[in-house]
Amino acid sequence: VGRDLLVTGCRLASMADGTATVMDDAVVAVAAGTVSWVGPAFALPAGTASRVVDAAGRLVTPGLVDCHTHLVFGGHRAEEYRRRLAGATYEELARHGDGILATVRATRAASEDELMEAAGARLAALAASGVTTVEVKSGYGLDLDTELRMLRVARQLGPATGVRVVTTFLGAHTVPEEFAGRPDDYVGYVCSTVLPAVAGFADAVDVFCDRVGFTADQAALVLAAAQERGLPVKLHADQLSDSGGAALAARVGALSADHLEHTGPEGVAALEASGTVAVLLPGAAYVLADPARPPVAALRAAGVPMAVATAANPGTSPLLSLPLAMHLACRLFGLTPEEALAGATCHAARALGLAERVGVIAPGAAADLVVWDATEPTELVYWLGRPLCRAVVRGGQVTSLV
Ligand SMILES: [Zn+2]
Repeated sequence: VGRDLLVTGCRLASMADGTATVMDDAVVAVAAGTVSWVGPAFALPAGTASRVVDAAGRLVTPGLVDCHTHLVFGGHRAEEYRRRLAGATYEELARHGDGILATVRATRAASEDELMEAAGARLAALAASGVTTVEVKSGYGLDLDTELRMLRVARQLGPATGVRVVTTFLGAHTVPEEFAGRPDDYVGYVCSTVLPAVAGFADAVDVFCDRVGFTADQAALVLAAAQERGLPVKLHADQLSDSGGAALAARVGALSADHLEHTGPEGVAALEASGTVAVLLPGAAYVLADPARPPVAALRAAGVPMAVATAANPGTSPLLSLPLAMHLACRLFGLTPEEALAGATCHAARALGLAERVGVIAPGAAADLVVWDATEPTELVYWLGRPLCRAVVRGGQVTSLV
């Protein structure tokens, strides 16, 4: 067994079988940034390691995977939130040029350095909450230059912070002002001009399929253009109404269908058949005070893997803690603490096309893990606002936070 690092004394929730089963007095061996052995201490093969971290009976899980964020953007929308608290709705704000378009203006005006500094600070907060892999979407440029700038910044965030970053092109987030009233023309521009130019900076392509975004037919055009280039796809689906998003995501074999607050039985059945991950984003439901709920009981009964993500963004979910998103998924959506942990680890990895590579502690997976100031998985969703990360290992490198 090769070993540069041993993590001993773990109460280990490896998530390797998709459940939060805990093994006491477990050891994780790491070699060359990869997990090389996992098991009970008594079975550890003889040998030495250059570094030993003693978890001393604490809970150890895979590094958390935040599989849906919009971390790169200019400005913020605290003033809009004040108006929202006073009663304005998401669609009213969108119609008056607030909402996404306000962030588009701020992002177009921001330099690459400004975007980098602001997104880096937000990613540092996510990382301190235990996140070792994060997906970052574009979608606040809506023109070639700014979309490319956002994706370049997202790609640079990985080396700058040590967090594994996966990028997604979301050019079809909303219709920009210069294409107002011409969504089909904008979809044509995205497919023929922007997508080909940014494809080398994106690991996947996403579309906002909803009544303030794009219809299922328009979304299908963008997803087809992505798939022609060999890029996997995902979809913002059924957040505001049942617009056929989940069914479309399933039909095209998307990695994930995200939101799903208004998905009906047909959408659930389609997801069941396709293996597409349902990504639940309770921060948005919480901030919008939206009473709609994703069909968690039906998804559970159908065996659809459910991931949980922050959807970190300046308008509907300025949420920079994945454990807090897990808490909200339990409190608002009815997930169990064990489902929330699977949702932020192994199922989130699947939503990024990284199943078995991150989100689990198993031989061959990246050595990304968290030692928590906790003993039970339930504590991760129980404590509110208490940073619980004791130490984080990223690619075999130990980051001690305490
Ligand atoms: Zn989103």
